[in-house]
Amino acid sequence: MLTLPELKTLLASPQHIVITTHHKPDGDAMGSSLGLYGYLIQKGHHVKVITPTDYPAFLHWMPNNGDVIIFTEQHEEAARLVAEASVIFCLDFNTLSRINELGELVRAASAKKIMIDHHLEPEDFDDYRCWDINACAAAQLVYEFIVNQLQDGELINKDVASCLYTGIMTDSGSFRFSSATAEVYRIAANLIDLGADQAKIHELVYDNSSENRLRFLGYCLSNKLEVLRDYNTAIISVTKEELAQYNSITGDTEGVVNYALSINGIRLAALIVERTDKVKLSVRSTGVFPANEICKKYFNGGGHRNAAGGASEKPLNDVVSEFKSILEDYKEQLLAG
Ligand code: 5GP
Ligand code: MN
Repeated sequence: MLTLPELKTLLASPQHIVITTHHKPDGDAMGSSLGLYGYLIQKGHHVKVITPTDYPAFLHWMPNNGDVIIFTEQHEEAARLVAEASVIFCLDFNTLSRINELGELVRAASAKKIMIDHHLEPEDFDDYRCWDINACAAAQLVYEFIVNQLQDGELINKDVASCLYTGIMTDSGSFRFSSATAEVYRIAANLIDLGADQAKIHELVYDNSSENRLRFLGYCLSNKLEVLRDYNTAIISVTKEELAQYNSITGDTEGVVNYALSINGIRLAALIVERTDKVKLSVRSTGVFPANEICKKYFNGGGHRNAAGGASEKPLNDVVSEFKSILEDYKEQLLAG
């Protein structure tokens, strides 16, 4: 393991740095990565952000997005950068399986690995760790890393502030989850002072849907939503054909599950989507109900207590039936409070 003084010494001279983040990056994955990128380039490092897969168009406006390398599209270039890196930052994930095939390249790399993350149960692959499950976003931890640990707060310029604000805003549900503490609001206020245009960022992320995406959402809500009142649970399942019918692209299913959770009395919601290779689940819960436990136990996944995900190799209908059959075991918890 590296100590903080050792890490500071390492970062005091120009390094070849790779920043990577989880499969299907979301606002926090890209916000924390591009925020850290914007900081590190000011220190004279050679930096690349490598994502395992592509990510939604509503995140493409972020500063320095043009410098991102997508592993599935530029495999060789990404593999070379990982092998040649002296430092690899792993943001918003803590098990190498979350970055697909890139994970084994990162594991094999000789670089020092820095994990900045807020998920449960980290795997032991890193040399230095900023890890706090109470942080509302990896972007919050990047902010604290730059300001408190590296004492470089003055390098948080408008670009860095905008990215970090985006990560905090998206992962805290626009500052409404319980993870959005008073300290998170103070950090957000600092980021606004440093140049983050909060109204503009909100608009760029949330008011940027294609017509198809909104019609797809409407279709899910009117035709596909199943409300299981006996279990305070709502499920939306979507087939490959339905995705194709609405020309669905990366990001179009993002947020759909939250509408199911917003029904009064609903404590658990799942979006179950048939992708080309497997069936993916996005599970959300309210209060103390452990969505991550269900994902871990039955669907080879995990996540946070109230926002988790998993996958299955079984056919869509079987996955939906399996999900419903699990509810009986949780009935008491689902009906409590
Ligand atoms: P989403 O439903 O938005 O894809 O994911 C919500 C959260 O669940 C993510 O932030 C991540 O923590 C977790 N998650 C989603 N899919 C997986 C998965 O396949 N494995 C694990 N371990 N966590 C996941
Ligand atoms: Mn996150």
